Amino acid sequence: MADAPIFKRLALIGIGLIGSSVARIAMQRGDLAGEVVASARTQATLDRVRELGIAHRIEADLGRAVEGADCVMLCAPVGAYAEIAAAIAPHLAPDAVLTDVGSTKQSVIRDVGPLVPEGVHFVPAHPIAGTEYSGPDSGFTTLFEGRWTLLTPPPGTDEAAVEKIAELWRRCGSLVETMEPGHHDRVLAVVSHLPHLIAFTICGTADDLEDESRQEVLQFAASGFRDFTRIAASDPTMWRDVFLNNREALLEMLARFTEDAQAMARAVRWGDAAYIEDKILRGRKIRRSLIELKQA
Ligand code: NAP
Repeated sequence: MADAPIFKRLALIGIGLIGSSVARIAMQRGDLAGEVVASARTQATLDRVRELGIAHRIEADLGRAVEGADCVMLCAPVGAYAEIAAAIAPHLAPDAVLTDVGSTKQSVIRDVGPLVPEGVHFVPAHPIAGTEYSGPDSGFTTLFEGRWTLLTPPPGTDEAAVEKIAELWRRCGSLVETMEPGHHDRVLAVVSHLPHLIAFTICGTADDLEDESRQEVLQFAASGFRDFTRIAASDPTMWRDVFLNNREALLEMLARFTEDAQAMARAVRWGDAAYIEDKILRGRKIRRSLIELKQA
């Protein structure tokens, strides 16, 4: 017999890659929530969600979308959270769980935390799963399978609410762990935000080359550059917001990276073969560990 739904009504605010993946899973499984309500910014997205049939109900008005929902999940770019939180706060049901999927966590707690009404349980979360695609067509039901979701509940958060969100992500196929938000932001700066910054930058560097070389870069793109272009195809709004909302950790990791890149440049200049080989071997070791952890 199927498990009972965790929530009666799940309201998704933002229904792009992440929101529409959760919606698809919720509609398919039936045990995340009895009813799925979707809201977005534009009518075009709402119309598309209706066509796709990935929510029971669609609401253009944010207040109406969250009314009566016992779980509200923010799935919009983190830069829009403060405005969304202000709009929904007066309409949140008492005892509802307010959660999110944003890629930064300290900024979310800073922007949303003070607006959460008394009696509403705030459980920030981040599923570490994604692709370079965005919008309601890009979601799919296996996106979170075998991937981690990190929960960063502020101290004193109702444990039952945290457990409900953990169970929701487990039912999405995710592995779940709790983490302190500042630690989350530093870890994600290294494993996700810095690699994106490097990818956007290297594509810009290639694009700045004079016409003739640029043409050759595209024509003969080796796998290294091709891999960067995949990451660089990600959504500009989402990534702009991630960079601006994890500023300190990202700049710290970028400074460390710049130092290490300079050390590599020095080794290349002075023909320090052992240094270069050692760095490459470390890279291979990291790749092997990822494969062993099934996160490659
Ligand atoms: P997406 O595909 O671009 O979708 C964003 C959604 O948010 C759209 O439905 C958009 O509506 C809606 N939205 C934007 N501003 C809004 C507002 N002011 N009010 C209501 N809805 C609004 O983005 P995504 O990739 O799913 O990312 C969503 C969140 O997940 C972000 O916070 C991101 O940091 C996080 N995340 C992303 C990834 C990833 O790899 N993509 C991974 C993990 C976590 P319209 O379509 O109408 O504009």
